[in-house]
Amino acid sequence: MYARCILLLFLCLVLTKSLMARIRNGYSSDVTTARECLQLLNERLLIKPDMSNAERRRIHAAMRKHAQMIEHYELTQSLLRQFRAISPDMYAQIDHLEDKRGRETDIYVRFIPETDALVMLSGASFFQISSGDRDASQSRFGKFTVAIDVWICDTSLNLLAHEFGHTRYIVPNLAEYRKYYNMMYQTTRFSQHIGHSPSDASGRMAYEFAHQYLVDRRLYKSSVGAPQRVLAIAKNLRKNIRESVETRFAESIASSRSFE
Ligand SMILES: [Zn+2]
Repeated sequence: MYARCILLLFLCLVLTKSLMARIRNGYSSDVTTARECLQLLNERLLIKPDMSNAERRRIHAAMRKHAQMIEHYELTQSLLRQFRAISPDMYAQIDHLEDKRGRETDIYVRFIPETDALVMLSGASFFQISSGDRDASQSRFGKFTVAIDVWICDTSLNLLAHEFGHTRYIVPNLAEYRKYYNMMYQTTRFSQHIGHSPSDASGRMAYEFAHQYLVDRRLYKSSVGAPQRVLAIAKNLRKNIRESVETRFAESIASSRSFE
């Protein structure tokens, strides 16, 4: 009986966890495949010392691509951890965000190189009304989700706070905001102005969140110390992950020479 209760409790905890909204890493669905592919390509390089140079170069290029995906995943993990340490209250608000009907909404965050941006804005949040449910936000990650992309730069976390502000307002007010947005920005040409009219409550909350983040950061700096710079974290991750790819490639070249 005791064991059954423990099992039920465990199942309830698992179920509760899976139903809770979360801030999620936008690369998480691709990183497992990237790690597996990288591992397979590593093995292929080492077990086939007689492969042609052209094939070796192709494998090397594919390894770099997968390594870059892993870098982006790890950078996003690291920056989300830093944001939570600096602004725990703001993080918690977005981590438990509900739509107008009380349904949890997942927020998928990606820190991206400028060249990968879908729109030429340093931060962008993607909301869409779900068909047949005007209160449910959907994005490329599915129903009850929002997608946020932020450029990798030294102000990435301030930009993320700004996007969290838009998200905090829009998710529980999606249908009404959609109406306001269509009316307000129908003729606006400059994408920077969209979402930031003085009468736009989402834009106001975005500026409030960005300001609060700066206040939290100053407090964190004075009590804990200066947080590591975004570009320094990115550089270290790139160095470690790419170095292991280049080392494997160099080993493969060496073993092919000994084969000749
Ligand atoms: Zn904005």
